[in-house]
Amino acid sequence: MRLKTTCDWCGREFFRDSAQLKGKKHHFCCRQCLASFSSKAKNPDGYASLKDYTNISQHMTKLNEELNPDRMTPETKEKLRESRLGKGRCDGYSKIHGLAAHRVVAEQTLGRPLMPGEVVHHRDGNRYNNSPENLVVFPSQSAHAHHHSELRWFIQQIKEMEAEENAETE
Ligand SMILES: [Zn+2]
Ligand SMILES: [Zn+2]
Repeated sequence: MRLKTTCDWCGREFFRDSAQLKGKKHHFCCRQCLASFSSKAKNPDGYASLKDYTNISQHMTKLNEELNPDRMTPETKEKLRESRLGKGRCDGYSKIHGLAAHRVVAEQTLGRPLMPGEVVHHRDGNRYNNSPENLVVFPSQSAHAHHHSELRWFIQQIKEMEAEENAETE
């Protein structure tokens, strides 16, 4: 069944399959509106509820800043630079090449040890990409899981809109 709904960004009325509308917290008529809604610059309120998935790297940096406003001391920056170049002191170097390298990098970025329960997430989904820009620290596994569910929702929205657009042009 096709239902009429209103775009949360531009206010335009449009039709969508009722199955696609079920359980959605936001509705958008097109990908452009979804992108605008989730853009921090264009819509700070929407960004707060949805996160800026159109510019995920900024979001992660922001989160890390909130968790630790003064994390990037000159010493930390230098340590990070050295560890990335593989020229850090022995202890740092061996840890960096250990199993929990992403946690070590996150700790260096934060400038403090990770707390119990904190989870380090790879923004691009590649667990071998441990560059500081690619890591997000979540306070708990549930916060981490919530981020993944929002991310899945966002990707699902884009897929559905692509399917919708293809159907319309057929
Ligand atoms: Zn719209
Ligand atoms: Zn994750």
